[in-house]
Amino acid sequence: MSTLSELYEEIALCKQCEIAKYRTKVVPGEGAEDANIMFIGEAPGWHEDQQGRPFVGPAGQYLDELLASINLTRKQVYIANVIKCRPSGNRDPLPTEIHNCRKWLDHQIELIHPKLIVTLGRYSMAMFFPGKSISKIHGTAQKRDNVIYYAMYHPAAALHQQSLRQVIEADMLKIPSLLADAEGITEAKEQPQQLSMF
Ligand code: URA
Repeated sequence: MSTLSELYEEIALCKQCEIAKYRTKVVPGEGAEDANIMFIGEAPGWHEDQQGRPFVGPAGQYLDELLASINLTRKQVYIANVIKCRPSGNRDPLPTEIHNCRKWLDHQIELIHPKLIVTLGRYSMAMFFPGKSISKIHGTAQKRDNVIYYAMYHPAAALHQQSLRQVIEADMLKIPSLLADAEGITEAKEQPQQLSMF
């Protein structure tokens, strides 16, 4: 099995999508290799493309504040995106880009082996909660194969829409107890378990 740094080298060589031609830097992800919590955003923006690091622009500053509200820093968690190259003009990721990049995210999850995966925004949510609507399932969690999946709004959405701020901040505050319960929850046999606490 490869290490994260080997994986980053492989990702840096990827030219599968047209957008790879226009990137300044690829943005594979960063954080603790043994993180219990993995946050998955959408795609790099301008700042991330410049620095090759996820969530370093305004949405990233807000994510840092949200992490601080539960006494965490970005070094203690792992942060990645659904796609690793910046879509031109900050457009939404295309289905083919999401498909092509999926293998990298799957490999990151395999290497980090988080107990809790937090999806940030619609695109990330759609990968783990297909067919669901973020307005309905934000702040709720499901346990599958010993991993808890937890859906949240994207921090950028809360920056643009003041009314979402309280919602995303309240959802963030549920993370410590979710994590504490991660080991204590019995898995559902047939249906993915909806954690009843939320
Ligand atoms: N938005 C994202 O989804 N990811 C980033 O890395 C930055 C902004």
